[in-house]
This record gives sequence, C-alpha cells and structure tokens, in this order.
Amino acid sequence: MIRLLLEDWSAVERRLREAAGVALFLDFDGTLAPLTGDPRQASINREARAALTRLASNPRVRAWVISGRRQADLRTLMGTIPGLTYLGVHGSDDPSKVFFRREVLDTVAQTRRDLASRLNGTSGVQIEDKGIAFAVHHRHAGEAEAGRALRLLEKVVEQREGALRIVPGDRVWEVLPREVRGKGDAVRRQWRLHYPDTLPLYVGNDGTDESAFAALTEGITARVGAVRPTRAHYTLRNCAEVARFLRQLEQEMRRTPSPRS
Ligand SMILES: [Mg+2]
Repeated sequence: MIRLLLEDWSAVERRLREAAGVALFLDFDGTLAPLTGDPRQASINREARAALTRLASNPRVRAWVISGRRQADLRTLMGTIPGLTYLGVHGSDDPSKVFFRREVLDTVAQTRRDLASRLNGTSGVQIEDKGIAFAVHHRHAGEAEAGRALRLLEKVVEQREGALRIVPGDRVWEVLPREVRGKGDAVRRQWRLHYPDTLPLYVGNDGTDESAFAALTEGITARVGAVRPTRAHYTLRNCAEVARFLRQLEQEMRRTPSPRS
C-alpha cells in the first residue's frame, strides 16, 4: 500500500540524515502551484517558495524545477531564486547543453501547424507552441471535443512514423520528438552525472512525472493527488502538503550536519 509521505516522516528523516546531500527535483503545475483554469495565472504557493528559497541556498542541497513549461515561462512565474535551476519542456529546454537538429524542430512545427488547421473550430482546445515540443490543452473542452481533438492528434502524430510521441498530462497532451526522452531521462542524467552521491527526491503530480519516479527508485519520490497506480513511493495530498514537506525538509537539512563533515 502506498503511504502518505508526511505520515512516514521518521523514515524519511533517517534517510536524510544518512545522506551526504540531496538532489531535489520538483514539478511546477499541480505540485508547487495549485492548478488553475488559466495556466497563465498559476502561482507558486507562498510557503513553498519560502522553503524552496532557503533549501536552494543550503550547500547540501541541489534544487531543480522541471516542468512541461518553457524555461522562460518558469522564470517569469517564479522569479529568480539563487541556486535553483529551471529545466523546461520536460528537461529539454536547458540552454546550457541541449541542441536539436533543424529537421527535428521542423517536424514539430509542421505537425503543430497541421493539427491547428485540422482542429479549426474545436472549441476549448488550445495548442501551445514550445519550440522543441507542443502541448494540446483540453481543460476547457467538452468530452466530445476533447475526444475529437485526440483522434486528430493521434492521426497527425502517426503520420510522422515514430518521430513524435504523445505524453498525457493533466488535461493536456504533450507532443515530444523522439529526441526528448522526458523527465525521467533528464533527472537521472542530472543526478547520476553531477551528484551521484546525493539522495534524489522527486515530487510531481501527473503522467509526465511517472518516468521520473521510475528513474529514481533509489530515492524518495512522491506523487501529488490521489491518482493510482503510480511508480512513486509516496503520495502527498495536495500543494499545501508539498509546501509542508518542503518546510520539514528545509528544517531537517539545516539541522543535520553532513555525515562527512
Ligand atoms: Mg504538474
């Protein structure tokens, strides 16, 4: 049976005390920021922001926010927090190292335009251009419209013969090129390459986070909300519990000296 993270805190604390440091990965929408009808209005829970700001400045903590949103969008919504790294578009929007071939970008753009022209007139369905990927939001669509949009999307993606894939999120379909492997690949890479001796922690709320739960089984992972099944070890009920988790984590990381010091 999957457990509530905050109810198993003594076990979490034990692992934090044994760890040399932590690699903390957090999703944004539905995790740090409560879901809203209009994604442009999303804003981070105040308590979560305060705890995250303190965590990011702790020398034993490395912190990332990883989201389907573009990196610039995350920066606008959250502002600059010293020590915190933003990974956009499922980890692919990281200007320090990711580079995509022109034809990959062209395939994504052509498919997006093709879908837009076929969707013409489907109310409540919105396409978001993310450069290396695009998202089809259906939060405001009725069931019939959403179903029609998905069939059209599947058709245009199928025509690309494996060059693109659809990852379902929270009332959104993310369309990613094969070269963008998703959050799991991105967080595993960050952790294993740069901070392999730290304990990885990951919190996220939707289907796009499942690959990260699967990639970080050695760590502590939590899915926000009541969705089952999940690959995460734990659940957190809502964004308020995420904020409480961050506050408790921050206190613990401040209190415990590194076992190596
Ligand atoms: Mg989310």
